[in-house]
Amino acid sequence: MNNLLYQEQNWQTQLSDLVTDPAELLALLKLSPQDLLSGAILASEQFKLRVPRDFVNKMQVGNPLDPLLLQVLPHHLELEEHEGFVTDPLDEEAANQIPGVLHKYKSRFLLTLTGACAVHCRYCFRRHFPYQENLPKNDDWINIQNYLATQPQINEVILSGGDPLTLTNRKLALWIERLESISHIKILRIHSRVPIVIPNRIDDEFISILKNSRLRIILVVHSNHALELDDYTCQKLLTLVNNNILVLNQSVLLKGVNDDADTLVELSHRLFEAQVLPYYLHVLDKVKGAQHFDLNKNKIEDIYKNVLADLPGYLVPKLVREIAGEQNKTPLFGVAAF
Ligand SMILES: *Cc1c(COP(=O)(O)O)cnc(C)c1O
Ligand code: SF4
Repeated sequence: MNNLLYQEQNWQTQLSDLVTDPAELLALLKLSPQDLLSGAILASEQFKLRVPRDFVNKMQVGNPLDPLLLQVLPHHLELEEHEGFVTDPLDEEAANQIPGVLHKYKSRFLLTLTGACAVHCRYCFRRHFPYQENLPKNDDWINIQNYLATQPQINEVILSGGDPLTLTNRKLALWIERLESISHIKILRIHSRVPIVIPNRIDDEFISILKNSRLRIILVVHSNHALELDDYTCQKLLTLVNNNILVLNQSVLLKGVNDDADTLVELSHRLFEAQVLPYYLHVLDKVKGAQHFDLNKNKIEDIYKNVLADLPGYLVPKLVREIAGEQNKTPLFGVAAF
């Protein structure tokens, strides 16, 4: 199917018609190496292949090193064991009290409403996280509400995941209404990769839900490469901006995908064309199966210095790492100069 036809499809149809078979993905991209396929089949047994067709359309046919493909194609290197790469690098299981809730940062409260994602990113730190046991049921709202009532310093709720934008508009609207009923909650932040992989998720109903909320809405999308941001995707992001929603982007620094300054600079410029501001550039979490995306400290420093030199300050994402138990994301650059 060509791009134009996808643009006419409802997002839920697209979400129910994902590519999950490695052989199909490679065939769509006219790639035939046997070792790629056998590795992909093995690695997908641990963390399934899952990618929307609209995202596959953005990949370069015939290029086994396409930066979008590398993010989603299971690889035999994922099966290797490496010291220091573990299943729960952020120790999130320990921070869990009420199902679906993570309250590690003082003013911000993270709520996971679904374990599902539209795409499975091979580097994801949540690839081993046991979501299903950990989602709030309808009855849990009362516990969340009671907890929030005891924490008046919380002014922001972050919907994270999984990916909250795999939820229906109806379900999102219900949770937004619940959060609006708590007067000290002023800001709703949504972290999602769906607008990048299925841009049609940004439909009129979604925009109208956000527009009619009393909460200040921030959408943090997740894009790692300028090729993810075709004109149609940028147009959708601009629609949000034009409706008074602040849109930010976070990326992960990934070997083979975006590990050079030019690529990151181009990403920032492209985001800005859609009026999206770069927010975070995450260093990879040391999750088991993602070691082949890892970069050493010197290389990271070198890349980031060049990014700083080439961009105006407002287009430089903050380089951060998440360290288990810390009260905030840890900035990795510039602090030592104090
Ligand atoms: C990243 C994160 C947040 C948000 O942190 P910001 O620095 O405000 O983006 C909140 N809670 C948890 C548990 C997080 O991991
Ligand atoms: S949580 Fe985000 S990074 Fe992880 S698989 Fe889902 S979309 Fe990808």
